[in-house]
Amino acid sequence: MQNTAIETCGLTRRFGAQLAVDDVNLLVPEAGVYGFLGPNGAGKTTTIRMLLGLIRPDAGEVRLFDSPLAANRQALMRRVGALVEMPSLYPHLTGRENLEVTRRLLGAPRELIDRALDIVQLTGDAHRRVREYSLGMRQRLGLALALLNKPALLILDEPTNGLDPAGIHEMRDLIRRLPVEFGITVFLSSHLLSEVEQIASHIGIIHQGRLLFQGTLADLQAERHEHLTIGVTQSDQAARCLTAAGWTVERREDGLLTVTAATREAAAQINSLLVGQRLEVFHIALEQASLEDIFLTLTNGKNVASLTKRKAA
Ligand code: ATP
Repeated sequence: MQNTAIETCGLTRRFGAQLAVDDVNLLVPEAGVYGFLGPNGAGKTTTIRMLLGLIRPDAGEVRLFDSPLAANRQALMRRVGALVEMPSLYPHLTGRENLEVTRRLLGAPRELIDRALDIVQLTGDAHRRVREYSLGMRQRLGLALALLNKPALLILDEPTNGLDPAGIHEMRDLIRRLPVEFGITVFLSSHLLSEVEQIASHIGIIHQGRLLFQGTLADLQAERHEHLTIGVTQSDQAARCLTAAGWTVERREDGLLTVTAATREAAAQINSLLVGQRLEVFHIALEQASLEDIFLTLTNGKNVASLTKRKAA
């Protein structure tokens, strides 16, 4: 069985009357990238703060590497690196000097600075003052700070927030390499499904404090339902005709119809039905629902049950 880096059981946190995190059971296997996905205010940062022991849960438990956080925080935090919000850097110091400040606090060996600079590809810019760094470079230096204690688990809160496309690309490549080359488990939050889809092996979707989905990327993709999109000049008439023939039809804002059907045979059958009615078909295509569509469905509260996967006890 695969070891778990993070496991939470019934994790709950309120702020006054607001239930920010509601009975969340995370299961993060070791040596992968877990994408913790949710819109703004979903409860991601509050969860992360509990994972790091920065705030206490009102109910539930956090276990890291199969050990309860509440009883072993100091020892466990030596195995964890974190980048939560923008890193606090000294702009008048160089990249290397910034790392040196933290290295001394940690009592870490000096060679770990070179290792961290190398991983985040800042060796060539380490002598430059941080005030000359781009936002992407600062974020990478923040990652280097989080890597200084050679963590087995890295927790990143929205690591690409505010970066330009090039910065996002660099950060994404970097994060992907961490489990493969260094055996580090990465837990990262994001509000962008497209981003998580490109980095993560496992995904948890949180909305209004509740975990709506948890599983592998493949589990989520398996839920993508295929449908046909159809363009017909007389779309009202076509919708009536298809509904009468037993198909489930929806209208899109752009005037196309979508029909719940997943095969080429169905496409051919629908096409001949419409053409037989002398309707003008100008478009017909089989399409898979994007992950964005799935996310919308989940966060609109529809079909949540069918997408909720919890670990079997
Ligand atoms: P974002 O991406 O916008 O940071 P998030 O998913 O990280 O969103 P949280 O920051 O965890 O969400 O917030 C979850 C809910 O808890 C929100 O409604 C937020 O307003 C509330 N909340 C978070 N921290 C506090 C606090 N210190 N005091 C009061 N309410 C809070």
